[in-house]
Amino acid sequence: MIPGPVFASAPQRVYWEITRACDLACRHCRAEAAPDPDRDELSTAEGLALLERLARFGQPAPHLVLTGGDALKRPDLFLLIERARALGLSVSVAPSATPLLTAEAIRGLRAAGVEAISLSLDGASAASHDALRGVPGCFERTLEAARTARAEGLPFQVNTLVSRETLGDLPAIYDVVRGLGAQRWSLFFLISVGRGTVLAPISARECEDLFSWLAGLPAGDGPVVTTTEAPHFRRVLLQKRKGSTAGRHAAGIRDGNGIMFISHTGEITPSGFFPLPTGRVRRDDPVTVYRESPVFRALRRVDLFGGRCGRCEFRGVCGGSRARAYAASGDPLGEDPLCAYEPGTGGPDRAREVAEAGLPRRQ
Ligand code: SF4
Repeated sequence: MIPGPVFASAPQRVYWEITRACDLACRHCRAEAAPDPDRDELSTAEGLALLERLARFGQPAPHLVLTGGDALKRPDLFLLIERARALGLSVSVAPSATPLLTAEAIRGLRAAGVEAISLSLDGASAASHDALRGVPGCFERTLEAARTARAEGLPFQVNTLVSRETLGDLPAIYDVVRGLGAQRWSLFFLISVGRGTVLAPISARECEDLFSWLAGLPAGDGPVVTTTEAPHFRRVLLQKRKGSTAGRHAAGIRDGNGIMFISHTGEITPSGFFPLPTGRVRRDDPVTVYRESPVFRALRRVDLFGGRCGRCEFRGVCGGSRARAYAASGDPLGEDPLCAYEPGTGGPDRAREVAEAGLPRRQ
């Protein structure tokens, strides 16, 4: 097996869904967001207390992603950012492309010390993007926000959904993302949770073809390409002997191993697409939950994984999407059905590993 890191003491990234309020109505919204905040969402005092707890992970501190809903719908957003920064947490923000995402708001985020923002783009044209987002004008507003962020020197990544509805548009979307000057293009592979159940996932074969195309994009010319809920892109990069690129893809990180999610009401799960509660911040210490809960501990143990992921020589750096395994079979340790790989059948790395093991061969 190719070893991968185990993030046992602290996640690399904590996603905190600070609100579910959002003025968009995206067809695939994980959070099933609504225009008004949930009355049960964490209060400002509870949010500030949560940040204190997260800081107790120690150094290196996890990176905090403030997401939603629309992070800008939270009136105390800048107070939360200020406190997080004061506690030594680096912060990114995921706003929605609504009239709240003004040039002033973007300048404010940069001035507050936000490292980067993420913008969603699910189509290369207004017609395709706005149809998924449910609000006319969203496409133009997203492009405008990207241009403003670039002009203001605030790094941004573009998030794009991968589903049957967007698959054919991805090359054109890549051209748009590249033209905008995004630092990162993060492809999110649909998991059937929330409103995501109304869209259709791609097949494992289509995923493999997509990865081949992504792996062939020119390195160093355009955004860094990353995947969410499809860690087997790392396997494809390794098979294509693109080790340096693979290293930039945060090998080993997956739901529960390097990632922790906190919902708007304080529920702790291994990721935002993985509705398996492990604790509540109103009652439990998130540091203890991450380190000690049976779910998190099991998700860090690739030796417990089942099916092809359990036999796979790439499970240390990949391990499959635990959220998809759970959605598909109810078993969070099962195999990821979006992967077409049959373990033990190859890849140049396996052949090299076998050769380097120096085993005698029968003449
Ligand atoms: S079989 Fe599982 S661990 Fe192996 S590459 Fe596919 S998803 Fe990753």
